[in-house]
Amino acid sequence: MTTHPADRGVRNIEPKAPTTTDGGVPVPHDEFSAQVGRQGPQPLHDFYLIEKLAHFNRENVPERLPHAKGSGAFGEFETTEDISDITCAGLFQKGVKTPMLARFSTVAGEKGSPDTWRDPRGFALKFYTEEGNYDMVGNNTPIFFIRDAIKFPDFIHSQRRKNGSGLRNHAMQWDFWTLSPESTHQVTWLMGDRGIPRTWRHMDGFSSHTYQMINAEGVRHWVKFHFKTNQGIEFFTQDEAERKDGENADFHREDLWVNIREGNFPSWDLHLQVMPVDEAENYRFNPFDLTKTWSQKDYPLRKVGTMTLNRNPESHFAQIEQAAFAPTNIVRGIGFSPDKMLLGRVFAYPDIHRYRIGANYQQLPVNSPLSPVNSYSKEGHMQYEFNHPAVAEYHPNSIDGPTADPAKAYDFGAWDAEGSEIFRGDVKPHAEDTDQAQATTLYREVMDDAARERLQNNIAGHVSAIDPSETDLLERVYAYWTAVDPDLGAAVKTKVEASERGTHRLRD
Ligand code: NDP
Repeated sequence: MTTHPADRGVRNIEPKAPTTTDGGVPVPHDEFSAQVGRQGPQPLHDFYLIEKLAHFNRENVPERLPHAKGSGAFGEFETTEDISDITCAGLFQKGVKTPMLARFSTVAGEKGSPDTWRDPRGFALKFYTEEGNYDMVGNNTPIFFIRDAIKFPDFIHSQRRKNGSGLRNHAMQWDFWTLSPESTHQVTWLMGDRGIPRTWRHMDGFSSHTYQMINAEGVRHWVKFHFKTNQGIEFFTQDEAERKDGENADFHREDLWVNIREGNFPSWDLHLQVMPVDEAENYRFNPFDLTKTWSQKDYPLRKVGTMTLNRNPESHFAQIEQAAFAPTNIVRGIGFSPDKMLLGRVFAYPDIHRYRIGANYQQLPVNSPLSPVNSYSKEGHMQYEFNHPAVAEYHPNSIDGPTADPAKAYDFGAWDAEGSEIFRGDVKPHAEDTDQAQATTLYREVMDDAARERLQNNIAGHVSAIDPSETDLLERVYAYWTAVDPDLGAAVKTKVEASERGTHRLRD
């Protein structure tokens, strides 16, 4: 018997039940289509043949762009600590257990690409709470390449395949990165050991964005989410990963599936970094800049509870491919922040799901909430649920239709907009904000000598694919790393020049 919310769509077919069409009509044969005479034509009215072929042609939905390659599992989140001083969100009250879904993914590769390419990993979570779905579209890194959503399509284009050759192109990636110095921290992370997790079980997850939490008294704090793996951090070196790419493109998917099937359930402890709102303005780093972390020495991790994945999907397509995560699934007690990437994603995520799956994607069992839906949305492709005809279809109405109740609603998260004129510009730098400062700390203070050497080799290996005739680009690359640490810049240059070079021309 299935009990998970996402299983509401499972058909429990009796063994040896007669095959039917999708309309429930028993079919005449599983193996032979109708024809006129032994060698004759096939009649168009063999609707079972037509249904099989036509439905097969429509088995795909557009793959995600990005985050196409991934998989996931169901589980439970248990809040084990009292954080009611920070949030009134029901799922984060001590003792509450919430069913949930996690999806892990690479970013740039297509649906069939190897799991073990160097790339950030998506860490998307859906909590089926009593107060509506709460989604966190996180990554396995606490930071990102850019801090303004207007650059996101450009960034992804630089990572994908090039016009003409149809190849991914390292020169294009370095061109974008070196002309976007805010990427330095994330590229340092990406080229370091954590750029290729050994498995999804062996990596942390982060909200990356700053969110707001609101307690029952209306007191607000800024927060960042850290899901710390209980399996320990493990990584693949570049050489190990390249071997895996060829051996088993689905290595991470298989690892998660097999471990859950064998009862070896992976878990992560959720911790929060919590910043009182009035400390944000003078914090040494801009707390809403997605390319920066908050030092854990300033804002130590505070434990909330544990997420355990304990159940494999029964349909990869229905429950993982069609799973739709969006920051717009937000619950009472949690709000947004001025992080411009977060505010851009609030539009972009539901929009891609409406395109990829359809306007009614939230009616699919894996996406629909446990709590009642009392909305005024109606019709559109594949509408499955509908309001009783006695229910009002518009607001205001005189027949007791749904009415907003601010006391039960989420809070956008209030903050000071610092002016009211329409404005375009970069985030305001705080005392220690430069594009390189935290990358320098990561390189000099967090990595040890061996990790630093692997970082240098990984960067040099990646850069070596650039054609040596691209001298301006190569000089920009060396300057990019020299700005993090002069020794790093010099090491990258020496290693690139000593390598076999040049498979990716910028203009090909
Ligand atoms: P801390 O010494 O308190 O924390 C260092 C952090 O770095 C830990 O979270 C650690 O994760 C993580 N880490 C260790 N090795 C690597 C690696 N090879 N690649 C990426 N991360 C690694 O210092 P601060 O909080 O003051 O941060 C110092 C620097 O650490 C930052 O500039 C940032 O680059 C990096 N960092 C900071 C995080 C944060 O949220 N503050 C989170 C992760 C990295 P673990 O505990 O799992 O070993």
